[in-house]
Amino acid sequence: MLDRAAAQARATALRREIAHHANRYYVRDAPEISDSAYDALVRELGEVEAAYPDLVTPDSPTQRVGAPPSEAFAPVRHAARMYSLDNAMGSAELDAWFERVARDVGDRECAFVAELKIDGSSLALTYADAVLVRAGTRGDGTTGEDVTANVRTIRTVPLHLLVDAPGGVEVRGEVYMPKDSFERLNAEQDEAGLPVFANPRNAAAGSMRQKDPAITASRDLATFMYQVADPRALGLARQSAALEWLRHAGFKVNPDIRVCASRDDVRSFCESALERRHDLPYEIDGVVVKVDNFALQDELGYTAKAPRWAIAYKFPPEEKTTVLREIRVQVGRTGALTPVAEFDPVLVAGSTIARATLHNEDEVRRKDVRIGDTIIVRKAGDVIPEIVGPVVGLRPDGSRPWAMPVTCPSCDGPVWRPEGEVVPRCTNVACPDQRLGRLLHWASRGAMDIDGLGSEIVARLVEQGHLHDPADFYSLTAERLAELDTGRTKKDGTPVVLGETVAAKIVAQVEESKTHPIWRLLYGLGLRHVGSTVAEALAGAFGSIDALLQAARVEPPVPGDGVTIAAALAADPVASVEGVGPVIAGSVRAFFANPDNLVVIDKLRAAGVSLVDTGQEPGRPQTLAGMTFVLTGALSHYTREEAGAALKALGAKVSGSVSKKTSFVVVGEDAGSKYDKALELGVPILDEAALDAIIETGEPPATMDA
Ligand code: NAD
Repeated sequence: MLDRAAAQARATALRREIAHHANRYYVRDAPEISDSAYDALVRELGEVEAAYPDLVTPDSPTQRVGAPPSEAFAPVRHAARMYSLDNAMGSAELDAWFERVARDVGDRECAFVAELKIDGSSLALTYADAVLVRAGTRGDGTTGEDVTANVRTIRTVPLHLLVDAPGGVEVRGEVYMPKDSFERLNAEQDEAGLPVFANPRNAAAGSMRQKDPAITASRDLATFMYQVADPRALGLARQSAALEWLRHAGFKVNPDIRVCASRDDVRSFCESALERRHDLPYEIDGVVVKVDNFALQDELGYTAKAPRWAIAYKFPPEEKTTVLREIRVQVGRTGALTPVAEFDPVLVAGSTIARATLHNEDEVRRKDVRIGDTIIVRKAGDVIPEIVGPVVGLRPDGSRPWAMPVTCPSCDGPVWRPEGEVVPRCTNVACPDQRLGRLLHWASRGAMDIDGLGSEIVARLVEQGHLHDPADFYSLTAERLAELDTGRTKKDGTPVVLGETVAAKIVAQVEESKTHPIWRLLYGLGLRHVGSTVAEALAGAFGSIDALLQAARVEPPVPGDGVTIAAALAADPVASVEGVGPVIAGSVRAFFANPDNLVVIDKLRAAGVSLVDTGQEPGRPQTLAGMTFVLTGALSHYTREEAGAALKALGAKVSGSVSKKTSFVVVGEDAGSKYDKALELGVPILDEAALDAIIETGEPPATMDA
């Protein structure tokens, strides 16, 4: 054991280190070390403090929950404190917790509720007269950050409760990002040269703490609520009853919950959760076990940072070691050069992995991974293979730090890394890998969704001169494809060709893609900053590629010299679309100003690819054709996206901004400037009841005077 002086020095050093990582994690949503490494530091400090209790300081991380709220958001004081949870690593620590509970409970009956521990960020929602009035993060447990505007964009959060709750109610739960959304978000961040999130939890926390709610809205967050702050006020006596109440009130409650009569029941739930964790669409890092009965919970009480009536049974971290064989540099469709690690295959979190992106040169340097190193690998968010770092002690002699090539590995062309950016790019637009990337992006599932066109086939078609730009997919014939040499050979040495069956399937898929909604086409064209969400917003606002093209030709005035930023924005029809700003609008303008791109669009038109959204749903007459709706404020029966989709299904256009051409503005609760603008321009205003009637009957609004 350390002597007192050494213990004091160690405790101080650990506190400083922990404070640094807590700030990176909670405040900046960008941790530098793994959770298990962080937990190990906190545990060590706990052990030092347990040996010398007088060394505990009030600001020690062992006494504190989370981090103080950031000043970027207004503070919210929680009605009752929001606690963290104590951890049990492994079954022995879980048993020790059962024993501690049993000491207080004695021989009284004690059921437990076992819930999945969702790896997200805590959220407190306050409802007054059944209406959502405030949403706050946990912060330091007493005071969190006011994130109401952002939380309103999350579809699983009811803006209005389905039950009465006189006097108001505060509920708590977790906001999280599903694994597939996390994967998509990180791919988009990577492509834009922005930092990626370490895991879905940081992505959720970061998305919730955005200044602009439009960004939060685009991030695909979801919630599971699991706690009523003052259950007695609602006459609830058990956690299981509180979960039931939450479900009835309209909250999304995780269905994977078990009320357990015995410790064995709890253990078997933990085992089954551990087995199923990789099959769930969201990440969990353990199981939370709670005493069911609230009266017993009260007796058990709290420590400085966590309830004694609950424990987080944490899953062991899934990290493996393997050997790094190669760092290959890929050239993406935007010319971005990305180092990708190739290592001996290992089984991690349910599947075998052999490659992981290293994102950029700075990241390789920061981690200092070298070819031949033994490396620690894991999956971020249970899905994305990631290198944690090298095991330096096992480094082979003579290894050297890795360096980015100075020319493009695909075309040998010049590479440019703009100052302040992390991603170097190949500047040769004719670079074969860039072209290949653009073509694969067009065919990808998120874009035109042409099945069967893998990278090998597309690469062959490019090599043989059949494919130059996306419009060339539409001139491929089944005959030509059937004869395509796949590059493989049979045992007797004759080349393997694609064959008629596969060729016919591909041609059918290409044909089908002609009628896809135009957001797919827009996304597939790969305009910078235009991800699928922005593409949908643009398609929703303009309805056709030609209308967007016209809008992109409008040269908005430059701010300054009497022109305010707001005025410049308002005069820019692209930038005024909700979810689109001046940077994206600039990229759209640049794209349509390039004659080569216009040639591709004309070729697509000639090939019969749909450049217009009809928005027609079979069976629904297009009674709202020619009308433009703007939705503003919060609706209680639908999200804005749902209401927009229902209107579009009747032939309407839905726009993000009010102008003289707007036919109707639908006003929900807390409507802001769009409502004022509608009044100013004399645009007819509809309330939610009128919207309900339109969607139900398909009849245009009665106040229609044109
Ligand atoms: P925690 O995440 O271990 O557990 C408490 C939280 O679990 C609650 O606040 C709640 O948000 C959540 N939770 C999820 N499902 C729940 C359910 N069904 N019932 C109740 N609660 C549920 O504790 P914490 O204080 O939020 O954070 C500590 C975690 O953050 C640790 O895992 C730690 O490793 C990590 N961390 C990492 C770093 C780093 O640098 N890597 C730094 C700081 C913290």
